[in-house]
Amino acid sequence: MSSACHIFCAKCLEPVELTIDATWLATVACPSCGESDAFSAAADEASAEFADRLACEAGRGEARGPETSRSRRYRFVFAFSPR
Ligand SMILES: [Zn+2]
Repeated sequence: MSSACHIFCAKCLEPVELTIDATWLATVACPSCGESDAFSAAADEASAEFADRLACEAGRGEARGPETSRSRRYRFVFAFSPR
């Protein structure tokens, strides 16, 4: 398993740093803005953001206001390696 964490800060688009403390609690933190949370919470958020993004892509044909709810309420997003 890679030690690289593929969760990015949604604000800075910086890869977050993963730390595991003595109690095996995994925490992620953005090296740029300091946003941090438990890894599980960050992963949940990133998952939700991803699902939201897919829903937006799928719903692109539908009428939508200019204001989509996309992403800004998420602090963490998954990153995908560019092809
Ligand atoms: Zn950040």
